[in-house]
Amino acid sequence: SKCRKIAVLGSSLVGKSALTYQLMEKMFIKEYNPTIESTYRTTFTYNSQEYELVVTDTAGQDEFSIFPAQYLIDVHGYVLVYDILNKKSFEVISTLHDRLINITGNANVPLVLVGNKVDLDEFREVSFEDGKTLAAKWNVTFLETSAKNDDDAKKIFNALLREIERI
Ligand code: GDP
Ligand code: MG
Repeated sequence: SKCRKIAVLGSSLVGKSALTYQLMEKMFIKEYNPTIESTYRTTFTYNSQEYELVVTDTAGQDEFSIFPAQYLIDVHGYVLVYDILNKKSFEVISTLHDRLINITGNANVPLVLVGNKVDLDEFREVSFEDGKTLAAKWNVTFLETSAKNDDDAKKIFNALLREIERI
């Protein structure tokens, strides 16, 4: 099977760990230590082919932190996550994206943009259109998700593999 390395980036508390855990264990966990970074491996079928995904659930990202090298070396694709209830987390995404492109030197680095916590839609601060517009500007896939929904986690990794494999 093909091995693909993925890093999940975004501000603290947006749901990076919950989404990663949902993919790995098909479970939603309510509390997850925000300072712990973990790397998981799982098999995933995309386009009738079996992949080994190595997913790094990063911790402590904010607009001021620089990317440690392990998030960049040998990583095939990125999941950029914000919280639809938190406008600031959406603003941070643009900074992370700029930095990612600067450091990788690749304007078409494979990534998907994810607005998480859509199950709490009534409290949203970031509209669907805002996310869609940003993703269109970057020519990447946009998804709104809930980490409570295991299908949504799968959709993210499907979309990312599509981006990775098209290169
Ligand atoms: P991280 O810091 O980005 O890894 O965020 P976590 O995965 O630790 O999630 C932060 C908090 O948001 C936790 O209390 C989670 O239970 C909660 N959370 C994460 N994703 C969702 C979601 O899609 N819906 C809801 N309702 N809560 C979520
Ligand atoms: Mg976390």
